[in-house]
Amino acid sequence: MLFDTHAHLNAEQFDEDIEQVIERAKEAEVSYIVVVGFDGVTIPKAIELAEAYDFIYAAVGWHPVDAIDMTDEHLQWLEELAAHPKVVALGEMGLDYYWDKSPKDIQQEVFRKQIRLAKKVRLPIIIHNREATQDIVDILREEDAFEVGGIMHCFSGSVETAMQCIEMNFLISLGGPVTFKNAKKPKEVAAEIPMEKLLIETDCPYLAPHPYRGKRNEPSYVSLVAEEIARLKELSYEEVAKITTENAKRLFGIG
Ligand SMILES: [Zn+2]
Ligand SMILES: [Zn+2]
Repeated sequence: MLFDTHAHLNAEQFDEDIEQVIERAKEAEVSYIVVVGFDGVTIPKAIELAEAYDFIYAAVGWHPVDAIDMTDEHLQWLEELAAHPKVVALGEMGLDYYWDKSPKDIQQEVFRKQIRLAKKVRLPIIIHNREATQDIVDILREEDAFEVGGIMHCFSGSVETAMQCIEMNFLISLGGPVTFKNAKKPKEVAAEIPMEKLLIETDCPYLAPHPYRGKRNEPSYVSLVAEEIARLKELSYEEVAKITTENAKRLFGIG
């Protein structure tokens, strides 16, 4: 039993063969998937998938790269969607200083507004971080995000940063990069942090694990992430699958 806590099955890369992809996920014993929507196009598709499949849930938020496009109406829309029975988190949201489409101050404002909304609707948040760790940690602290907690998705930081996030009521989600030979930090994080604080994800169609690196990723490959964590933690695959699934169910309030 596996839980892919971050998948973009709503991406156009899956338009052609979504049913086969979902079939392969089931064969790989992926029992739950959270499909993440992050803009005006991907959010409705995430909801649609969550309504069509029992084992798919949705998260809705506004991506920091597109922060400049978010209006008050969009925020209102997120609030309405938060009441949907299959919406289990807000996000992804956060900061992305790699791309410069949206200025930093606008990204920060949009991030803060979404954290406040999450506290209002009492849903956990899914954090996207690219080259913005310190500002993310500061904002989570200033906005008292620990009240709702959530996930540091596709975490690539140090053990020290992971521990800081855990103290703020966040879980650490590892994806394909933990399987890469040269991924020193994710492997250290997998080895060091407590099992009850770990989640697994694909972030598909991006970041496919070894040996599919560079190819299209899909939820069935989350088993490779679990395998690598099991190896690093010297646990059985079954234990890693079971504990990460329980962690995710508890956070999302499923079951
Ligand atoms: Zn992301
Ligand atoms: Zn994502």
